[in-house]
Amino acid sequence: MSGPLRVALLGNPNTGKTTLFNRLCGLRHKTSNFPGTTQEARVGFLKIGDHPVEIVDLPGIYSLELEQSESEICRRVLAGDLAPPGHAAAAPDVLCVVVDACSLHRNLLLVGEALRRRLPVVVVLNMSDLAHKRGLKIDYAALRERLGCEVIPASARKGDGLGQLALALQSARVPNVTPPGTQDGLETWTDGVVAGLVQADPAGRRVDITDSLDRAFTHPVVGLACFAFVMVGLFWSIFSLAKLPMDLISTLFGSLGDLVTGSMPEGVLREFVANGVLAGVGSTLVFLPQICLLFFLISLLEDTGYLARGAFVINRWLRPFGLSGHAFVPLLSSHACALPGIMACRGIPDRRERLAAILIAPFMSCSARIPVYVLLTGILFRESAFKQALAFVGCYALGIVAALVSAIVARRTLLRGPQRPMAMELPGYKRPSFRTAFLTTYDRGMVFLKNAGTNILAICIVLWWLQAFPRSEPPAQALELRAQASAMVENQAGTSQTPVPSAAEDLIQQAERLEHTSALRDSFAGRIGRTIQPVFAPLGYDWQLTVGVVTSFAAREVFVSTMAVMVTGSEEHEDEGVLARIGAATRDDGTTLIFTRPTSWSLLVYYVLAMQCLPTLAVTAREAGGVKWAIIQLGWMSGMAYLAGTIVYFIAGGAA
Ligand code: GDP
Repeated sequence: MSGPLRVALLGNPNTGKTTLFNRLCGLRHKTSNFPGTTQEARVGFLKIGDHPVEIVDLPGIYSLELEQSESEICRRVLAGDLAPPGHAAAAPDVLCVVVDACSLHRNLLLVGEALRRRLPVVVVLNMSDLAHKRGLKIDYAALRERLGCEVIPASARKGDGLGQLALALQSARVPNVTPPGTQDGLETWTDGVVAGLVQADPAGRRVDITDSLDRAFTHPVVGLACFAFVMVGLFWSIFSLAKLPMDLISTLFGSLGDLVTGSMPEGVLREFVANGVLAGVGSTLVFLPQICLLFFLISLLEDTGYLARGAFVINRWLRPFGLSGHAFVPLLSSHACALPGIMACRGIPDRRERLAAILIAPFMSCSARIPVYVLLTGILFRESAFKQALAFVGCYALGIVAALVSAIVARRTLLRGPQRPMAMELPGYKRPSFRTAFLTTYDRGMVFLKNAGTNILAICIVLWWLQAFPRSEPPAQALELRAQASAMVENQAGTSQTPVPSAAEDLIQQAERLEHTSALRDSFAGRIGRTIQPVFAPLGYDWQLTVGVVTSFAAREVFVSTMAVMVTGSEEHEDEGVLARIGAATRDDGTTLIFTRPTSWSLLVYYVLAMQCLPTLAVTAREAGGVKWAIIQLGWMSGMAYLAGTIVYFIAGGAA
């Protein structure tokens, strides 16, 4: 045989397909999307003896004949009409159907449909360890005969039966049994296949425990309380446990930047490396710990069987908005950062709902908005910490309301379609597998790193360039201030008095502020800001605020450092005094404050709602399967922000 043996992995959801795939391929796999779809395509590589094997993991489905995108993808792959990117579209050499040995009867419908395809088939009876524990005895020889193909009992969890499976894949043949061609016929057929095949142990202590746990976890009150408790824990972990590695990454990139600044000769190349590449990649990579932690914890929670119960409980609260319980964790985690939130939308089975959740996730107030909220609530309510806190909570609430309203709009227009009932069978409770959690985390982490190293890096470089060019001469006033400062220092050196450098330092700082402001003003970003300032005039922004909005288009927190540069000449803004100085800064002509009350209100609302985060747009385009979705997200969010900002400015009296 030439070329690798191409195996397609088919099965109902929750039969252990992913666990089997991970067992067989470990880290040797690539993740992408099936071309033109949002459905993930994982291709794994292994060797059986010397022979290379490629395994494509298909989406979990109940039937090949349903009108659902997942079923359609499976049909097309089996027909040789669709393949993961970089793979020739051809029907697979072997179809490996994964079946849950504990629910043989229910899984047989898909097996029958697979046998009808007339491709070589191997059936894996997975979870045989659980079947054994539950006292189920299956007559494998009879099952082989009735299906007309090889049947391998296995436990993907424990790694049992994999050797036999490998041999069976190599020698698989087209089955010598053809099930009925109609769906009705097939359902008769499945009864016949299981008849007398499985002997069950009627005792069921386990089932009792499962039942009482289920009663608690799906109870409208107790269940909701448990769910809230688990979610608070999850959310707390994302913030607190990720803090140390996030700080380490920030420090590492900060030191790398210092190293570059210290060791490279001054010039454009140094600025490019330090401010373009390192600062850009650093500010994105800093979210990697949150992403890894989130996926690790979700995978563990899912594995225990709890997440399905939690989704079930919260489902009824999300249904009026066209969402289901599956959307909750992605939306909650978007409060840390929209990037992991959007990536977690992969767990939402319904395509339209998944797209809706991706579109609205960035409305949730993420960590990057916090510095902006701190600045603006501080300016608005300098006198009262309580009012500041209240305004803060208001911002979070506004984001959530905007997200839910947008979900309704999206599900009634662009993403109109029947709401898939949460017809989820509740999987059994299990001890979670750290191996699976690790592999999931690795997989998601790599997807994110790839994005950060390509699209996001490119975006950061372009934005750096817009701010760094064209170069302009320092303003005459700055040169004069510097000259005065040097004269002062020289005078001091001539006398025997102890130097008093603070006056000179003040002058230098003023000069730096003028230089930075003028460089930013003359840069492309500054020119864009000044050109489009009239667009933002209804929201009360002068050209400096508009430049702040433009430069923070890549990431919201940049707004505060841009304003700090313009007002103080330095990016440092952690200190109370600097925030106060930003708040007290006046417009270019000195007539009025930059941050008047109406302007501050409109900015606050603008930053809650606007899509000011390019990495999120890149991830949306990737996860939703098209740039179109990123453009819709940008247009909708920023349009809403603009409108709301204008209205708030008007109400707050700014337009008077
Ligand atoms: P998929 O939806 O088909 O991809 O299923 P997963 O691979 O995510 O597995 C669903 C659940 O079954 C997880 O909790 C797995 O840890 C568990 N699981 C998978 N294979 C086995 C097995 O052979 N034995 C047992 N006891 N559990 C398994």
